[in-house]
Amino acid sequence: MSPLNSLGIMIIDSHVHIWLRDHLPDAMVRMYLEPLAALQGLMDWEVGKETAWPEYTVDAEKILETMEAGQIDKAVVLPLDFNMVESARIGIFEYNTWTFETCAQLPDLLIPFVGVDPQRGEAALELLDHFVSRYQAKGVKLYPSTGWYPNEERVRRFLDHVDDLGLTIITHAGAAWGSLDERYSEPSFWTEVLERYPDTKVVLAHLGGRWRQQTYQMCREYPNCFTDCSALQGWLPSDPDTALSRLRELAETIPDKACFGSDFPLFELSYPTSSWAHFVRSQPWADEETRAKVLGGNMRRVLEI
Ligand SMILES: [Zn+2]
Repeated sequence: MSPLNSLGIMIIDSHVHIWLRDHLPDAMVRMYLEPLAALQGLMDWEVGKETAWPEYTVDAEKILETMEAGQIDKAVVLPLDFNMVESARIGIFEYNTWTFETCAQLPDLLIPFVGVDPQRGEAALELLDHFVSRYQAKGVKLYPSTGWYPNEERVRRFLDHVDDLGLTIITHAGAAWGSLDERYSEPSFWTEVLERYPDTKVVLAHLGGRWRQQTYQMCREYPNCFTDCSALQGWLPSDPDTALSRLRELAETIPDKACFGSDFPLFELSYPTSSWAHFVRSQPWADEETRAKVLGGNMRRVLEI
C-alpha cells in the first residue's frame, strides 16, 4: 500500500483497542477511568451511566477517523479478556468475534489479535484454534494481571499451543489498576517463555512501565523480544520532556526492538493518538532511520508483513 505520511514510511500503531460498552466488565471501566481522575472536576464519571465516557463505543468508524487524522497506516487491534476477574455483559467469544468482524471491514488497515485469558484452560486453547482457523489470527493479547504468572506450570500448555500455532504474543506489562494485580505484570516473568520458545515473538507492552530497564535488557538479550511505547503519551502534555527522554532512551538502547503504539482509545481525552503519532514523527528524538523503524519497521518485522 502507498504510505500516507510525510516521512514516506509505513506507520503502524502496534497497540489499540476497540470495544462496545457491553464487552467491558464494570471493573475494567473503573480501571480505565482511574488514570483520568485528573479530569474528575470536569466530568462526572460513573460506570453506571452509559454516556459518561465518550470511549464506550469504539468501533471501525472511530478507529478509522483516528488513523486518518494521525496518518497511521495500520493498527494492531487487541481485545481484552478481563472476564475471569469480573464478567462483562457479553462473553469473550462474542467480543473476539465482534473484533474480528469489525477488523474485516478494514482488512488493509486493521490486524486483530485474539484476546484470551490462559486461566480458561481447555477453552482458551479452543478459542485460539477457532480464531486462527476462521480468521487467520496472527497473534494473541495476554494480560497476566488477571492473576497468572507467564512462567507458571498451569499456563504452559496454553503457551505451548501459542507456539505451535506460530502466534505473536503482545502482553501487558507494567502498571495495573483496580481489580487487576500489578505484581503479575513484571517483564522478567517472560524470560523463561522467551527461552523456551525462541520462535515465538513476545512484545512487552508499555516499555514494561516502571520496569523498563528489565524490558531493555530482555530486548537486547532475546532476539524474539520486543516492546511498544504505548501509554508513553500519558506524560503529555504536562511533561513532554519525560516522553522525549524515554524515546531517546529507547532509540539508544533498543532501536530495532521498540514499536510505536498508542493504547487507543485510553488517552483520547488527554492526548489524542493523532497528536501522539505526530509528536513521535516530528520531534527530534532520533535520526530519521531510527524513527522509521520505531514508527513501523520494527512491527513489520514482528508481524512479517
Ligand atoms: Zn492496552
